[in-house]
This record gives sequence, C-alpha cells and structure tokens, in this order.
Amino acid sequence: MTPTPAAAPRSDRVPPASAPPPAIELRRVTRRFSGKRDVVALDDVSLAIPRGEIAAVIGPSGSGKSTLLNLVGGLDRATAGDVVVDGAPYAGLSDDDLTRVRRDKIGFIFQFFNLLPTLSCLENVGLPLHLRGWPRRKVDDRASELLSLVQLGHRLTHLPEELSGGERQRVAIARALSIYPPILLADEPTGNLDTRTGEEILALVRDLHQRLGSTVVIVTHDMTVADSCERTIALRDGRIVEDRRR
Ligand code: ADP
Ligand code: MG
Repeated sequence: MTPTPAAAPRSDRVPPASAPPPAIELRRVTRRFSGKRDVVALDDVSLAIPRGEIAAVIGPSGSGKSTLLNLVGGLDRATAGDVVVDGAPYAGLSDDDLTRVRRDKIGFIFQFFNLLPTLSCLENVGLPLHLRGWPRRKVDDRASELLSLVQLGHRLTHLPEELSGGERQRVAIARALSIYPPILLADEPTGNLDTRTGEEILALVRDLHQRLGSTVVIVTHDMTVADSCERTIALRDGRIVEDRRR
C-alpha cells in the first residue's frame, strides 16, 4: 500500500500580496452640526476611492458635498466614523498631526479661489512650500514652473485682483499642486466661471491628474463635468444615493 502523500500545499490559502489601501476611505462617517437646528450633513457614509481615480461628487445644494470634501481634506472632523487616507485613520490624529497630513498630502481648490489678495501669483503659489520651510529660491523656482504649467508664466508678479476669474482659478490650481499632492480635492472649481473657462480649468485638472497620477475628487453640480469623470457619486440628504463608474 502506498503511503498517503502529505497534503499538497494549499496555495489557494495563501493570502494574496496585500493590495495597497485606497487613497481615501470613509468608514461609516457621520457629521452632525448641532445648533438651533440639528443637521446631519453626512449620515453614516462609507466609501472607498482607489489611488489614481478621478471621481465626481454631485447632488443638490445642502446634500453634504462640501462637508464630505472638508472631512477628507482634514478641514473638519467627523462626529462618528472615520476618514482614512492612505491607510492612516484621521481619528487618532491630533490637530497638529492632521494639519501636517493636509500640508503634505492634500491639495485643495475652492469655488472662490481663496487666494491671498496682497500676495502676488508667485507668492500665492509658493505659500504651501514656504510653510513647509523650503528656502525662498527653491520656492520661487517651483512656483514659477507651476505657473508656467497653467499658462500663467507671464503673470508672476500680478496680484489676484489683476486677473480674470479663470486666471485666478489657474493660480489656485498651481497653488494646490505646489506640493505635488497625492490627493487633489476641488469644491465646485468651475462654479464661478463661465462655461468655456470652466471647461479649460477641468481640462487642466484632468491633464494634471494624468501627469501626476493624483487621486482627484471634484464636487460639482455640472453634469458635463461629472460625466467627464470615471466615477460619479451622488449624494442626497447626507447619504450616497448612487455610485457608478463608466
Ligand atoms: P453642499 O456642499 O452639498 O451644498 P454642505 O455640505 O455645505 O452641502 O451642507 C450640508 C448641510 O449641512 C446643509 O444643510 C448645511 O446647512 C449644513 N451645514 C454645513 N456646514 C454647517 C455648519 N458649519 N454649521 C451648521 N450647519 C452646516
Ligand atoms: Mg458646497
């Protein structure tokens, strides 16, 4: 009688090489605003955005889009649940640590540009690098390189008020990209621009997304914008009501 061979190694039991964590993860996140009126701006939302994805967040006004983006950007804290960026949960971080994560990993583009009015384009774009302690010369080099990238190489010393809306938003994009952020968050970046300028801004964001490979989340109420993204997440009353990839 032949001896029973030892059980063959069950290679199918070997766990797969661990996949990288999603760039952004929301784990049952709730954000409640308490005041005269109690508002649940985000209601038990779970979501994962893999690295390199470009996703649109849509939904009616008041549905929680900015709340979601602010939580991911570390500008606000969840009431319950946790935001996890590159596998690191925010909940355990001190405010200082959260500020550091934001400074190192996240570029933010706002609807109203949020440029500092007394600083030139070059200084606005260089500010995040300056805050990281870069020497002046290096800051200026990177800032002027980025302004050229957004076709504003000829506006280095202009003040924001001397620029058109589209140009201001391009400065804001250059500023958001100054640190080459792995994550780029944009809250209605075209909401204040005419259609054509809005399209140019988006083309720019997409181009930079492809070149830098950043993970991008764009809040928009514009369906043309949303349709141009590989994924659309729809919110209503603080909940995800639709999530589809094309
Ligand atoms: P959206 O960006 O989709 O228009 P928001 O995320 O800004 O919506 O807001 C979602 C809900 O939370 C709204 O009802 C809004 O009034 C409320 N909200 C947002 N921020 C605050 C705040 N700081 N204090 C109280 N309520 C807020
Ligand atoms: Mg909003």
